[in-house]
Amino acid sequence: MSEKTIFRKIIDREIPANIVYEDDRCLAFHDVAPQAPVHLLVIPKREIPSVAALADEDAALIGHLWMVIRNLAQEFNLAGFRVVVNNGADGGQTVDHLHYHLLGGRPLTWPPG
Ligand code: AMP
Repeated sequence: MSEKTIFRKIIDREIPANIVYEDDRCLAFHDVAPQAPVHLLVIPKREIPSVAALADEDAALIGHLWMVIRNLAQEFNLAGFRVVVNNGADGGQTVDHLHYHLLGGRPLTWPPG
């Protein structure tokens, strides 16, 4: 079996994280190296490595993740915010478990690096 990703270890409570939301399908926690005053990661519990690896059957799960993101943005009083999904090494992805970055709490510039 392949090595567990850091996010799988967080789901399994093998390493600590500052968890802000959890249900049967997903988990949300503070990024350990925040790039904005609010920087949360929202991840599915199912093993999906990246956007490129999504199956058609994942559509409902992905829709659910967006509802969780919407709720967290409201809960954290983010008037404006950005949702980022890095895909693949050239896309800046460093953890091979699908995750949404929810960033806010300061004005965000464009384009990203
Ligand atoms: P990405 O580069 O899009 O794959 O994003 C991975 C994110 O995971 C980075 O923003 C890291 O700071 C974050 N990260 C890595 N390890 C941890 C951890 N143990 N707890 C919380 N966030 C983490």
